[in-house]
Amino acid sequence: MKYFIILLFLITGAFAMPRFELPTENQAVFQARPNDFFMYVNRFFEGKDSKPWQAGTYGFVRNMKRSGGELIGTRFHEGADIKPVRRDAKGEPLDKVRATTAGKVAYINPKTSASNYGKYVVVQHNWGEGPVCSLYAHLNTISCEIGQPVKAGTELGTLGYTGSGIDRTRAHLHFEIGLLLSDNFEGWHQNFLNCASVHGNYNGLNLSGMDAIGLIKDQRSGSVRSIAQYLRKQKPYYSITVPANLVEKLNKRYPWLWVAAQGQNPSTEISFSASGLPLFVHPSQRRVTDATLTRLKPYIGRHEDRTLKRISGTGGKGTLTASGKRYLALLLGQFDNILK
Ligand SMILES: [Zn+2]
Repeated sequence: MKYFIILLFLITGAFAMPRFELPTENQAVFQARPNDFFMYVNRFFEGKDSKPWQAGTYGFVRNMKRSGGELIGTRFHEGADIKPVRRDAKGEPLDKVRATTAGKVAYINPKTSASNYGKYVVVQHNWGEGPVCSLYAHLNTISCEIGQPVKAGTELGTLGYTGSGIDRTRAHLHFEIGLLLSDNFEGWHQNFLNCASVHGNYNGLNLSGMDAIGLIKDQRSGSVRSIAQYLRKQKPYYSITVPANLVEKLNKRYPWLWVAAQGQNPSTEISFSASGLPLFVHPSQRRVTDATLTRLKPYIGRHEDRTLKRISGTGGKGTLTASGKRYLALLLGQFDNILK
């Protein structure tokens, strides 16, 4: 039965992903005005001040550095920073923040000081592709409750500037869509970091974000009908091969990550984006006894800068770091077997 279901995924490659809406009334990104949509950061780099809107987009867009003649961002921004379109006479933002699609409010952090995200809400969606979450951060007020079912457009709160490194001028909604990596993030946190997770499973570390605005655009253009399709379109940065018995939990959670039918293969290769988002999974004939880096996009600078320190090395050579192994342990739900 399991193989039949997986085969079905491979043939159709699609689930009925519900329509996503932008979470505020700012629609400038669809009107070719990205500078009116994405909130800039104040940048001082190589002796010059600037306010690039690009730093409000998803990706390695912050903490610029020259590396091998290339200008690169070394800090990953996991969401989209959306500018307010309404402010009162004092400059306070007034935009309502709304659920991007149907789901259930899974978590609310009402305490500004408890997170860099400030006050935030997580909505969990499940249309058959496993847990997918949307996250709405830096809110001023929150007007929903945990457990509340929501539709696309249901009001969750108002846009604000709670959290770190943000003021009234730069008030924005930090918006993410991502995979919820583990149902036992708390156990992982306790095991590897020796303390309790403040936000339970809805800690930002347990959410692996994708380019939410890219997803919504591709859905509108009709080129993408599922998260599986969207992730398969992304170019992997690295792949890790693990013994086949270590991927059972991942298979249960996100079976659509498979792009080829599973057989009696000794190992499984998982391909990741630079930020560690799992994109797809292949069966592999390679015999490995531990998590092994089997593909890596060559890069002239340090791989640490492009992989959230999960891969070290330069050029075509790299090593999975201790932090990379811990991350893999979280994704695979394997707390004992990964770290050798
Ligand atoms: Zn942000």
